[in-house]
Amino acid sequence: MKDKINQILENALNELESASTDPKAIDTVRVKYLGRKGELTSLFKQLGKLPPSDRPSVGKLLNEARDKLEEAIETAIKEAKQAVVKAVGKFDVTVPGRKPLVGRLHPITQTAREICRIFTQMGFEVVEGPEIELDYYNFEALNIPKDHPARDMQDTFYISEDVVLRTHTSPIQIRVMEKRKPPIQIIAPGKAYRCDSDMTHTPMFHQVEGLMVGKDVSFADLKGVLTIFVHQMFGAHVGVRFRPSFFPFTEPSAEVDIQCVICNGEGCRVCSHTGWLEILGSGMVDPAVFQMVGYDPEEVSGFAFGMGIERIAMLKWGIDDLRLFFENDLRFLDQFA
Ligand SMILES: [Zn+2]
Repeated sequence: MKDKINQILENALNELESASTDPKAIDTVRVKYLGRKGELTSLFKQLGKLPPSDRPSVGKLLNEARDKLEEAIETAIKEAKQAVVKAVGKFDVTVPGRKPLVGRLHPITQTAREICRIFTQMGFEVVEGPEIELDYYNFEALNIPKDHPARDMQDTFYISEDVVLRTHTSPIQIRVMEKRKPPIQIIAPGKAYRCDSDMTHTPMFHQVEGLMVGKDVSFADLKGVLTIFVHQMFGAHVGVRFRPSFFPFTEPSAEVDIQCVICNGEGCRVCSHTGWLEILGSGMVDPAVFQMVGYDPEEVSGFAFGMGIERIAMLKWGIDDLRLFFENDLRFLDQFA
């Protein structure tokens, strides 16, 4: 019996050796010797037929033989796996697949498109202009001559004495009025630049500028158009108010506030406990601006308005740090699917 056990073990180890790294051949050896009807397994069944005095020593030998073979098979399987990895390079077929990233529109782009959608429904046409702009279009034609105090309100990036990165999208109005005759009804989205950076300012930001010029365009038209915009953007229940203000290129001018969307006008930290949030600047186009582009202020009138797209997006989604928009953190951007 003991010789038989040793012989079987020797055969099994030899066959395993020739199976090498072939997983199928390794398994054949395993079944042949350790399977339910395997050669080694069947010897265990014969233990009971031995004289009781022989059983412990034979049993011990059998157990040892089985352990040895199991260990050898395990090693062979490991080597077979390594051979596969080696054959296909460092590629690990067991690593789970990666989900492909699906791109989506940036929240600023989404907001800009939403603003444009609302105004185009009211008959406005979307136009664009250059970001590198002449001082003339950015300032002078907008009634902001050199040495005008309003220039101090905007920290300008100068490229040369006469060329700037536009500080607002307003120069587009001038470019359009120079080329066309009234009636004009345009909306101009785009990037603007100012030398400024903190929680509510970034050196590059986005604006939308609007202009409506024609016969008998009045402040009532301004109020009507902007009230419809606020109600479409933030909901029909949101209150709107117009507050007197000053801009060099409009007279009279008004800033537009909406009822705080965080506290519904009750007063909170975001609205400095006033219940109101400023969202845009507006006013009737100054006659001096019309004269610059060759329009007769006695014949035509119009209104203009401008707003920061980031500001609208922050209020719409309750975001308190402007810089989040430009850090390109996918965990943040993913929320605007
Ligand atoms: Zn509030």
